[in-house]
Amino acid sequence: MPSTSASTPNPLLATWTGPFGLPPFDRIRPEHFAPALAEAMRQHLAELDAIGAQQEPPTFDNTVAAVDRAGALLYRLEAVLGNLTASETSPALQAVQRDMAAPLAAHDSAVKMHAGVFKRLDALHAQRASLGLTPEALRLLERLHEDAVRSGARFDAAAQARYSAIMQELATLTTRFAQNVLADESSYLLHLNSEADLAGLPGFVRAAARQAAAERGLPEGSHVVTLNRSLIVPFLTFSERRDLREAAWRAWVERGESAGATDNRALTRQILQLRQQQAAAHGCASYADYALADTMAGEQGAVRQLLTEVWRRALPAAERERQALIAMMRTHQVQGEPQAWDWRYWSEKVRQARYAIDEAELKPYFSLDNMVQALFDCAQRLFGVRFEPRPEVKAYHPDVKAYEMFDGSGRSAGLFLHDNFARQSKRSGAWMSDFNYQSKNRGVPAPIIVNNNNFAKAAPGEPTLLSFDDARTLFHEFGHGLHGLLSNVTYHRLAGTQVLRDFVELPSQLFEHWLSQPEVLARHAHHWQTGEPIPQALIDRLQAAQRWGQGYDTVSYLGSALVDLALHARTDEAAPDDICVFEREELARLGMPPAVGMRHRLVHFQHVFAGSSYACGYYVYLWAEVLDADAFGAFEEVGNPFDAEVAARLHRHIYAVGDTVPPQQAYTDFRGRLPALEPLLSKRGLLEGENLAGA
Ligand SMILES: [Zn+2]
Repeated sequence: MPSTSASTPNPLLATWTGPFGLPPFDRIRPEHFAPALAEAMRQHLAELDAIGAQQEPPTFDNTVAAVDRAGALLYRLEAVLGNLTASETSPALQAVQRDMAAPLAAHDSAVKMHAGVFKRLDALHAQRASLGLTPEALRLLERLHEDAVRSGARFDAAAQARYSAIMQELATLTTRFAQNVLADESSYLLHLNSEADLAGLPGFVRAAARQAAAERGLPEGSHVVTLNRSLIVPFLTFSERRDLREAAWRAWVERGESAGATDNRALTRQILQLRQQQAAAHGCASYADYALADTMAGEQGAVRQLLTEVWRRALPAAERERQALIAMMRTHQVQGEPQAWDWRYWSEKVRQARYAIDEAELKPYFSLDNMVQALFDCAQRLFGVRFEPRPEVKAYHPDVKAYEMFDGSGRSAGLFLHDNFARQSKRSGAWMSDFNYQSKNRGVPAPIIVNNNNFAKAAPGEPTLLSFDDARTLFHEFGHGLHGLLSNVTYHRLAGTQVLRDFVELPSQLFEHWLSQPEVLARHAHHWQTGEPIPQALIDRLQAAQRWGQGYDTVSYLGSALVDLALHARTDEAAPDDICVFEREELARLGMPPAVGMRHRLVHFQHVFAGSSYACGYYVYLWAEVLDADAFGAFEEVGNPFDAEVAARLHRHIYAVGDTVPPQQAYTDFRGRLPALEPLLSKRGLLEGENLAGA
């Protein structure tokens, strides 16, 4: 590899001529980032200095719209770095990420606290009602002002310096937290060395374990279990080897807790202390008070009320499921209580017995290719958009597929990158991100949107078969993707998914509903070998089986959400000495069944500690589920999941508006009223009088 010299221009700073302005991935090397980011930060500050130094009195155009345009280069560079470190990282890129975390955080503080700019924003904000602004322009002014105030723009110089230091340290620590989790995940392998080790595993799990071994260069015929959710969950579901299930489960839940270089316990303590200082700087008693002020929920009480209401109903449901597991164990002459590493195994046995359904029978109908077609078909029927493969578009990894989106009038309206497979260089989980959002103010006509999944890749020449849960994840992320792709706003700050964080899961969770529509399944869930559509009887059993396991799912999710809330609602300055003790005590206080446990334990809880945007924010999935369950009712009420009139309202008021409209208003514009709680409880089988788990 040639090294960068003064004579070879930095490709990050050259004009990107790829389709939709995609960066030249093949020429970008880790050492290009530091100088390019430094230059982009310098340009951004120069733009703000110019705005602040104007002699003319502040106007919307010379200040608010100008601030929204500033920093466009930095935004694109940070998007490239963020996407690469999440999806295709390397030790060199991780070093860049660590080295740049503090300077980028310092820059963000300098931008939000920019005295000259804030003075003008603040003056305009004070007269905002009389400026004659359009609703979107008014919203932009309010959001930029709020961003600045929440970042310390009103503090005196000494307090600003302290605050900026806190933010830099937080950025560094949360970066290390995420890298530690990735290291623990990619270093673990459970070798399955014999037929006895493979006992109970259906063909698709064996194939995934073989493929994982092949990707790690192990001899042909080797099988390994990794900590990738798409592999370990089916292993825990099917392996008859209780000892191996226990070993794999322990490794999975202890990520981030192993003593040594990747131990996250001390890091979380430091992060919590800094967050407490951050909250105190704003006059808040707890980080929860600070974080929740700028959400739809608004304050702790509303969040706690929702979580505890559902928790109260979910605990008995989980207990009924546990009793069913025990009964199933007895029919297999197994004594004792189910442990955490047993739950999925016996739960699957109950599911098979009650609903005559098993994963191995379902998966052939859910090939990845067919489900991708289902995504595009649903998007077309709902929103009139069309997706076309663009195989010539090369992204950052050969597995990434590119599609061009055309809107209803045939206009090229976005680039969609689909990155579906797990690899060691990718973080776990599933997420949507962007390389750029659409924004008229920045002259960006069409966005570049990415969906990441972590499906276990099939062997070459074989189709990737998804579980129903995997297919749901695919739909979920594509719902976020559409929120980015359909965005039709003027200002960058308000585009796409940059909405209040307890609203952001509405478009994604809502889109999941279409996967389980019988007509979607009949049209797309075709057997990969025979091409036969999934039989109606199997759809019926699949629908019925969806109700099974809701107690477990709800309790494990809520366990994480409630501990997240409790952790950040503390008002004491000192963080808990040992975060694992805090977690254990909090779970005991809540009455968490030990065999269920948290979906994400604190030591590897990336939502909470791999950054701060979801800290005290794990509740948002349930919050948004109240919205999505109620929202889908609009289609159910007219008896057609593709009703054109309802879909047009959904497109216009939810998927296209970004943050141009306050969330309560956007929802009311779509639904005609605010949401009710009952549809969520009904969806999860938790309404009073329902006893589905025991039925
Ligand atoms: Zn989501």
